[in-house]
Amino acid sequence: MKKISANLSKYLKPKHGIILILAIIILLVIYYLSSNDISELFTGQSYIVSPKDRNILILYTGGTIGMVETKDGNEPTKGFLQKQLKKYLDIQKKTNMVSNYKIKAYDPLLDSSNMSIKNWNQMLIDIRDNYDDYDAFIVVHGTDTLAYTASALSFGLENLGKPVIVTGSQMPLEKVKNDGYDNLLSSLLVASLTDIPEVLVVFDDKIMRGNRSKKKSSNKLNAFVSPNFPNLGNFGYKLTPTIINNLIRDNEKGVFNVQLYNETNEVIIVFLTPGFNYNNVIDLINANANIKGAIILTFGIGDGPTANKKFLHMLDVMNEHNIVILNISQCFDGYIDTQDYETGKTMTKYKVNSGQDMTIEAGYSKLLYLFSKYSDDNMFYPNQGLIVSNLTKDIRGELSTSGPDAGEMGPL
Ligand code: ASP
Repeated sequence: MKKISANLSKYLKPKHGIILILAIIILLVIYYLSSNDISELFTGQSYIVSPKDRNILILYTGGTIGMVETKDGNEPTKGFLQKQLKKYLDIQKKTNMVSNYKIKAYDPLLDSSNMSIKNWNQMLIDIRDNYDDYDAFIVVHGTDTLAYTASALSFGLENLGKPVIVTGSQMPLEKVKNDGYDNLLSSLLVASLTDIPEVLVVFDDKIMRGNRSKKKSSNKLNAFVSPNFPNLGNFGYKLTPTIINNLIRDNEKGVFNVQLYNETNEVIIVFLTPGFNYNNVIDLINANANIKGAIILTFGIGDGPTANKKFLHMLDVMNEHNIVILNISQCFDGYIDTQDYETGKTMTKYKVNSGQDMTIEAGYSKLLYLFSKYSDDNMFYPNQGLIVSNLTKDIRGELSTSGPDAGEMGPL
């Protein structure tokens, strides 16, 4: 025995031990990389699931996608989308990648320009009432107010633990060439193959966070973007979507709950322009007690005409009426930083809250959500301070909190 170990120590030097350990580490890393998605290596979480035994509820609210040409222009038509989708999926059946789905069609089907807060509540009620029976939800929607609905759903669905996908199309399924089939199929694939606990917008191969999305084009197929936050994933050549796991937000922090919107609260939007007459807004506020919030669409980085006494008087009147004021930039992308110029700094003295990099759609629905949740008629939360503190906080991934640099994520 002694002889063997003496012989071994003759050949094995300490450097051999180090080489052996390094080789084992390299082999382990190669094994890990080959059995996992690289992004999973960093996040430890995958959102890809098997489509087997999953059930999807499609809420078909209307929109161009199911419209048929009439003498008065395109109009939503009962039953058309259901028939077309079934025909299309029947051809694709071989893939086995689409879970069971059921369609609930709204009556009447709406052009989304005609939607109101009542319609958001209808969708929230349908998701609430079917939450336990389905694994994912798809809302088929007109594109015009799609980003508003996606934002509104993201706030109203508290502690969401399942995917809710909002989609539509720029061209009706009725047309030979259209984007409807593709958007529907992509949405069905995200619903069947992932368990992302977020409200998403799926459009033109992109998977976006709902409350970051924005309709950017009235007639191009690439109609939606997420200007201040990267896309959460996308589709390419493969049928499975690529998901950037570390961007997904875990919204399920407690028991799922739906907060319906109080339909009487109103939020006005004041779009600043050189020469704007602020007395018009003051008259409006004095005449309507339901106005609880105002979004000021400011110039650039969040600046307003602070040398204009009428503008400052308008802010004073808003303060007197306890109106919560939110500053969102007219710029399509970027953030609010009112510390840069006097024109921004002065506004903060008038209780103008920074909307940071929120879209108008997110800011608008967030204000309405907070008024519904913490309103004065709610005995438990009779506190305007709660509305303001939540407004500037990231509650559903709708804004970046890491300061002015947050919006500087590089080119689109
Ligand atoms: N006006 C239509 C709607 O929003 C446009 C569309 O769906 O693309 O319902």
